[in-house]
Amino acid sequence: MIENLPPCPKCSCEYTYEMNALVVCPECGHEWVPAEGGTEGGDTAEGWGRVVKDSVGNELRDGDSVVVVKALKVKGSPSGIKAGTKVRNIRLVDGVDGHDIDCKIDGFGAMQLKSSVVKKA
Ligand SMILES: [Zn+2]
Repeated sequence: MIENLPPCPKCSCEYTYEMNALVVCPECGHEWVPAEGGTEGGDTAEGWGRVVKDSVGNELRDGDSVVVVKALKVKGSPSGIKAGTKVRNIRLVDGVDGHDIDCKIDGFGAMQLKSSVVKKA
């Protein structure tokens, strides 16, 4: 049994019902195979099955050193982070807004970067 049958993709009727392996819409007669619930494709088990890659596709790991490949603005800093700045001992995190690297940068302190702006050193 499938609970919470999806509404009809054609007419969005909610009174769909199951027939064999199909879901049937009583309104327009559309029949389709319901999508399996949950994740699709690769199994990204809880949390950390994710691969973080740098700007050129190298896989990054906790403890790696990277180089910032483009100048970054930093709140409260007039100069920001320059391209070529080396960052040691990164930590991969599931940060907000695509920031997936947690690190400390000399002169700036702890911050989060996006893996797309660094290259493995
Ligand atoms: Zn329908």
